[in-house]
Amino acid sequence: MTDALLNRTLAILDRLIGFPTVSADSNLDLIDYATALLQDCGARVRVSRDATGKKANLFATLGPDAPGGIVLSGHTDVVPADPDEWSGDPFRMREADGLLYGRGTCDMKGFIAAVLAKAPEYAVLGLKRPLHIALTYDEEVGCFGARHLIEELEKESNRPSVAIIGEPTQMRVIEGHKGCYEYTTSFHGTDGHGSEPDKGVNAIHVAALFISRMMQIAETMKTKAGPDSQRYSPPWTTLQTGRIEGGSARNVIARHCAVEWEMRPVRQEDAREIKAALNAYCRDVLLPEMQAVCPDADIVTEVIGEVAGLAVMPENEARDIVTILTGANLCDVVAFGTEAGLFQALGMSVVVCGPGSISQAHQPDEYVAIDQVVKCLAMLTGLERTLQQGK
Ligand SMILES: [Zn+2]
Repeated sequence: MTDALLNRTLAILDRLIGFPTVSADSNLDLIDYATALLQDCGARVRVSRDATGKKANLFATLGPDAPGGIVLSGHTDVVPADPDEWSGDPFRMREADGLLYGRGTCDMKGFIAAVLAKAPEYAVLGLKRPLHIALTYDEEVGCFGARHLIEELEKESNRPSVAIIGEPTQMRVIEGHKGCYEYTTSFHGTDGHGSEPDKGVNAIHVAALFISRMMQIAETMKTKAGPDSQRYSPPWTTLQTGRIEGGSARNVIARHCAVEWEMRPVRQEDAREIKAALNAYCRDVLLPEMQAVCPDADIVTEVIGEVAGLAVMPENEARDIVTILTGANLCDVVAFGTEAGLFQALGMSVVVCGPGSISQAHQPDEYVAIDQVVKCLAMLTGLERTLQQGK
């Protein structure tokens, strides 16, 4: 790895941080910038906008038009930054003591900058195996960009087979993470005077029954910790209510109640099983009781986000490649969710490995250490041999 490569990476990162790509806003300026850089070195670039036209994914290819390529993937959006909580402008990169500060430096523009800086070097190698660069939108709010990208890849015959997701892991190799499924279940009852509770349908009371059922299911999940989940903390699928809202006053039957809940499944079947059990409980037990009093009563569950987990696989080419490149002698699992599960659902082998620490992500004064960027560049440089060897 050369100083020129590091300097180019830092210059690109400086530009990337300057694009305030908060999930709510457009990422098109960043995508335009990356498109120009990649086209300059001969990459074939496809940009796909979302329905609003304000956001886009970028998918670039270097090397042959063939299946079995390696994807380097990163999301372009960042979480908001309150300037009052920062020591400087969050969207202006600054360096101090070997650390690069700015919103997105670690989550995950540091990785993207390293990949963009490497692209011209890959481009001149005569790759036998395709190298793809995927930049997505809206990861922080539900992985919508990655879903869109996966839909497009599904239709392609020259599908890649390996994905490296550069979320911050301090360059540790992560081969698994739990899923994160979020919902709001709303209970619609009928109000009435608090002195005659049986004449209405108290949505809070129904919600309490729903939550009790959820807690029972959560307890049974603890008994299902298996050998496949021992590395997670805790080693079972969890379920919890984070927020509840409902009712109008102490002496009025509550007409409405909303329960905001989530589950973190260690395996996909658990998520399916929990959803089915709660649906059945609502449909067969709660709803008939509610509608016996008021036919209009209802229970509606809104899906806020369903981010699939990354299941640990016995065979995983992505893990094998990155383990060798980083010199890691063990792989790990983590508690945070990424886009990795979506790529895995497409039949690809996937690993999460990128510069910076997740404890820096989403924080004021977010930073990535330069030595982490250097390690990432070393990994990407090592990848040259894999790409030149073909599959
Ligand atoms: Zn991220």
